[in-house]
Amino acid sequence: MIPIAMPLLGEAEAQAAHAAVLSGWVSQGPQVAAFEAEFATLTGARHACAVSNCTTALHLALLAVGVGPEDEVITVSHSFIAGANAIRQCGALPVFVDIAAGGYNIDPAAVAAAVTARTRAILCVHQIGMPCDMEAVMAVARAHDLRVVEDAACAAGAQIRIGGSWQPVGRPLGDVVCFSFHPRKVISTGEGGMLTTDDPRMDAQFRLWRQHGMSVSDTRRHASDRVIIEDYPVAGFNYRMTDIQAAIGRQQLLRLPGIVAARRALAARYAQALMQMEGVTAPAEPGGMRSNWQSYAVGLDPDLDQRALMQHMLEIGIATRRGIMCMHLEAACADIPQRHDLSRSEGARDHTVLLPIFAQMDHDQQDQVLAALRDAVAAQHPRRSRLTA
Ligand SMILES: *Cc1c(COP(=O)(O)O)cnc(C)c1O
Repeated sequence: MIPIAMPLLGEAEAQAAHAAVLSGWVSQGPQVAAFEAEFATLTGARHACAVSNCTTALHLALLAVGVGPEDEVITVSHSFIAGANAIRQCGALPVFVDIAAGGYNIDPAAVAAAVTARTRAILCVHQIGMPCDMEAVMAVARAHDLRVVEDAACAAGAQIRIGGSWQPVGRPLGDVVCFSFHPRKVISTGEGGMLTTDDPRMDAQFRLWRQHGMSVSDTRRHASDRVIIEDYPVAGFNYRMTDIQAAIGRQQLLRLPGIVAARRALAARYAQALMQMEGVTAPAEPGGMRSNWQSYAVGLDPDLDQRALMQHMLEIGIATRRGIMCMHLEAACADIPQRHDLSRSEGARDHTVLLPIFAQMDHDQQDQVLAALRDAVAAQHPRRSRLTA
């Protein structure tokens, strides 16, 4: 059985977790601080603040840019549902817009058309590790005085070209960038998230909110030779990451360049093979974007039955997933008014299949996936199998 994804965790992560446990400090402490510093260096952001997962990161990011009741936040429906949930946790309304043609990312023209007097912010997504068109998104934000939160849950290690030079996703182009370290992403701490920003006031706000609104951190009080009595200036949350998770995360950061290189090589090899296959379209990497290929999404010709193709591959032992979900089609979002055309999003969900991709995947496994895909397409179209044999 070839799985859809697999985290790359090894002896280094196990040893790091072991050492964190034996250090006696297991909650948010020195490992979290070191992980944050290393993440800031890696992305080029001034500040990085670790939290319990990307959903809590999104919640804090939206609160920090001032999203509250009565506000609207423009975002994509074609993404993981955590985005809409975080907007609703702030008491605000998600306004769904469509994706642009030729990919799975937000359409900046649709964002511009969706702005109302209530719009406070744009929540854009670097979907499945492909950076979205940030220059166009920021132009819309500037024109309408909107704040921008980047959902980079899947995008650690991806790069974007700005003004002629490449920079990592995570160096903020909007106000705040949010990452996930769930095992389905390219690096993992089991559960975990990170907020990056260049604004020191926002970073201070995140640090306060994530630990119950408490003015003094445990580490500072522990290290002090004077008695410190904390106070609670604001209502907060418990969104902390543990030192055990951060110790694992630090090892994952060391692996990140190798993981991304391996995934990019596999993606290039997939693209080469798919060029010769009928009925399917390899994903394109737009100029100015370097994906980390968190997922490898293949377009299916409209006459192919997605579910039958996935079932066929599953029976051969190859796991796949359908295209990215559309939040507006889920019961959880039934009460959100649908103001804008979302037909590209729906088409992408129903005419896309995600193929297995993970850093440890070898060419033999990849060839098995390709053979199964060819077989599954041919099962629906015997004529095609002759053409592509
Ligand atoms: C995975 C994911 C999230 C949620 O991340 P968690 O760390 O599981 O909370 C949010 N947005 C997108 C686009 C995701 O892919």
